[in-house]
Amino acid sequence: MTDCLFCKIIAGDIPAEKLYEDDRVLAFKDINALAPEHFLVIPKEHISTPNDADNAELMGELSLTATRIAKERGFAESGYRLVMNCNADGGQVVFHIHLHCLGGRKMTSPIG
Ligand code: AMP
Ligand code: ZN
Repeated sequence: MTDCLFCKIIAGDIPAEKLYEDDRVLAFKDINALAPEHFLVIPKEHISTPNDADNAELMGELSLTATRIAKERGFAESGYRLVMNCNADGGQVVFHIHLHCLGGRKMTSPIG
């Protein structure tokens, strides 16, 4: 999708600090890190919100990719939080689905 920020990152039109890439998913550091470790995993296919997702394998791949990167970066055992926001009440700002992975510190609040 031409006016989508994350599609532009996938296309290489906007730079990002990439952590992992294959033909289906891309992981890159969040530009406004809320934890010592904060990265996003996105599908290369444009999917606007979690409400539009119907590919279980692809959705699972986002989660498994985040976990693999957390292990590689050495914070999987201490722990991390995976979050996917949906629409206004969920606080979604970028309308290309993305799984947040936050770690490297203890999360100070429960979800919500
Ligand atoms: P959300 O509120 O779930 O839609 O989160 C969007 C996330 O995208 C925020 O954490 C932003 O900091 C992050 N973000 C926005 N623009 C960029 C960018 N150019 N590169 C990396 N992360 C970004
Ligand atoms: Zn997109």
